[in-house]
Amino acid sequence: KGPDPDLPAIADRMSSVKHKIVVLSGKGGVGKSTFSTQLAFALAGPGQDKQVGLLDIDLCGPSIPRMVGLEGQEIHQSNLGWSPVYVEDNLAVMSIGFLLPNSDNPVIWRGPRKNGLIKQFLRDVYWGDLDYLVVDTPPGTSDEHISIMQYLGATNVDGAVIVTTPQEVSLIDVRKEINFCKTVGIPVLGVVENMSGLQQRVDSLKFKAVAEDGEEKDVTEYAVGEIKKHVPHLLSMFAHMEVFHVGGGAEKMARDMKVPFLGRVPMDPKLGKAAEEGRSCFADGSDCTASAIALTRIIKK
Ligand code: ADP
Repeated sequence: KGPDPDLPAIADRMSSVKHKIVVLSGKGGVGKSTFSTQLAFALAGPGQDKQVGLLDIDLCGPSIPRMVGLEGQEIHQSNLGWSPVYVEDNLAVMSIGFLLPNSDNPVIWRGPRKNGLIKQFLRDVYWGDLDYLVVDTPPGTSDEHISIMQYLGATNVDGAVIVTTPQEVSLIDVRKEINFCKTVGIPVLGVVENMSGLQQRVDSLKFKAVAEDGEEKDVTEYAVGEIKKHVPHLLSMFAHMEVFHVGGGAEKMARDMKVPFLGRVPMDPKLGKAAEEGRSCFADGSDCTASAIALTRIIKK
């Protein structure tokens, strides 16, 4: 079998995109789409102001339209290609979700048809000039992935960010994913540990102390005062709880596999809510301080 005849057309289309980042995960449900979406929001948002495209080729579970608040939108065809849907002037989104008549309908396609569509997404979407294209992929290392990586490999892709949870069940698949990237020649930009502990704002919590004689005292003011002494420019306060009791697993795995570790994002109910409601966790009033700070650190790397 010779080289795919469509690769030059894909490369040509992608030549107007400066940076291409693929987001991968070994398993589903680890927060890959959430990360892709928030990465796109961050790059397009204040301070960065980049021209950003978000491409969802997770054909089995296209969750991006909802996560960017564009559910039910349709894409249009122009003589330049398929026009993506815009969240903002500088944030364009393309997803199979926009092509399906009803989001309750599963996509039951076989490999060749899926590959055909992925190819079309890479070749036929008119993004214009982009600083960044973030590509959200299906979980795993299936046949589809091999073609995705081949197509993307033809586009000078910057590399892959791999999202995992701290558990070994997810890490096993991440090792496969890293080896897969090495095999197909796509650099691993790094690993992100998502849902790393549970984080909850403590502003609304009360601290209570119980004395030996059973007297209960509200010590919130005292506790907060003490904390403020140690952190003069306090932004907000969080209670952090380990959930899976395997914190640090991803970092060690990254070290063992000799790929960069980018950081941890806590399980943050406010981040889940922002994703659910199709909002950026960086927006004012999103209340996602801890997860937004964690994500910002990761994104800066
Ligand atoms: P994947 O793309 O890996 O299948 P998703 O991004 O769809 O996973 O995330 C699965 C669910 O978990 C979503 O409902 C999302 O809102 C939620 N979620 C992901 N990451 C976090 C987090 N750090 N804190 C809270 N909820 C999260």
